[in-house]
This record gives sequence, C-alpha cells and structure tokens, in this order.
Amino acid sequence: MKLNGSCHCGYITFEAEADPEKTSICHCTDCQASTGTAFRTNIPVPGNSFKMLSGEPTIYVKTTAESGNPRAQAFCPKCGSPIYSTTPGDGPKQSYMVRIGILKQREQLVPKVQNWSRSARPWITGLVAIRRNEKGAT
Ligand SMILES: [Zn+2]
Ligand SMILES: [Zn+2]
Repeated sequence: MKLNGSCHCGYITFEAEADPEKTSICHCTDCQASTGTAFRTNIPVPGNSFKMLSGEPTIYVKTTAESGNPRAQAFCPKCGSPIYSTTPGDGPKQSYMVRIGILKQREQLVPKVQNWSRSARPWITGLVAIRRNEKGAT
C-alpha cells in the first residue's frame, strides 16, 4: 500500500510503501513515555521505499530501549510529532517503524498484533466500556 505521511505542522512530509497487514501496537514503556499516551501504533516500512519529501526530523537515540537495543526516534523539530524509529547511525536503513497517526491512510491501517502486552495499561482491555463522547469532553 502506498502511504503518505505528514507531521502535524506539515514541515515533514514523506511517502512510503508498506504491507497494511503488518500494522501493530506497541505497549512498551518507551512508547508510553515518548508518545505521552498509552500505546503506539506502527507500520514497518522497508528502507528502500521510504522517501522523505520535505523537512528533516530530529533524532533522539535511547541507548537502552526496553528491547535492549539502541533505537533512534525521529520526530518533527517544529511540532514534536513522532515520525518513525529505526536503527541508529548514518546511512541507509533497512526499515523504519512509521507511526500511523501521521499517515493519510491511517483509516485503513488496523493493527493485527499487540507487542509488549506485559506493560500494557490494564484498562486497555476494557476500553469499550468507558463512556464515549462523539466530540470533546462534555
Ligand atoms: Zn511538524
Ligand atoms: Zn514500544
């Protein structure tokens, strides 16, 4: 599937190709802290299909991610939107874990698996029971 990405302010834009069946949720504590919320939803993009069209992300490398491997986190330097994570260092990357909230096609990207469920917020499984407002808080 062709993907079009843009951060919240529009400084960073990119395009990519990915398999929507590989969409996943990550409940790890790194994702909770760096998104400021309960979990992250990602799609892996092969490095050779990822094309940055505008802007340059800021890279933050956490040396001991929960996985045990260093991980480079890319985000927009102007608006802070998370863009992707990848292996640290210069040069071409094998793949990018792109954040689905910045993708135009996010409606079609339904997660197929939840990883790091051991650190998932316990209320996740009861989400449907929580009162819903069609718009903002009432
Ligand atoms: Zn931005
Ligand atoms: Zn994670």
